[in-house]
Amino acid sequence: MSTLSTEDKHIILDTIRDIPDFPKKGIIFKDITTLLNNPKGLKTLMNHLEERYKEYDLDYIAGIDARGFIFGSILADRLGVGFVPVRKKGKLPYTTVAEKYSLEYGFDEVEVHIDAFEGKKGARVLLIDDLIATGGTAKAASNLINKVEANCVECCFIAELTFLNGKESIDSPVYSVLEF
Ligand code: AMP
Repeated sequence: MSTLSTEDKHIILDTIRDIPDFPKKGIIFKDITTLLNNPKGLKTLMNHLEERYKEYDLDYIAGIDARGFIFGSILADRLGVGFVPVRKKGKLPYTTVAEKYSLEYGFDEVEVHIDAFEGKKGARVLLIDDLIATGGTAKAASNLINKVEANCVECCFIAELTFLNGKESIDSPVYSVLEF
């Protein structure tokens, strides 16, 4: 299994920007646009993810709306597997399966197309997003994958806010490239 060298970790870490009080006061937003526009940082990250996941015998990568689409699509292409978008409610055009999750105030919902994994029971799926905070979004997304009879083999995040213990609520194994 590929491990990230301290040097490569710092190359990626140095490209992620903290934006205090966004989108509201008290939140430190981890901005990955500065990773995306940095060719060395992005290549270092994607090389690491490709090395790690090439041994997983994956059938699909599922990416969470919206930043998970970026990393997920690059990785899917590198591994030669399909990409499946997990979208916020109301965005997908065909018949969907949905899963609700609670937010600080109220609920949100994520959806996939009912045939996203082409009816392949037990298809091996890696779920990816840029960041795990409380874990609510990823838990709902991984439940959704299992609901359509695919198999969420791991959830991968570029960054994890460890003090929120988000990964404890997720049934699948969790891998985070960077921990904050
Ligand atoms: P959660 O469901 O609480 O784990 O929140 C994860 C989702 O919200 C991910 O799609 C992240 O992109 C986004 N998110 C939550 N907190 C932050 C943060 N501090 N910086 C950047 N993105 C965040």
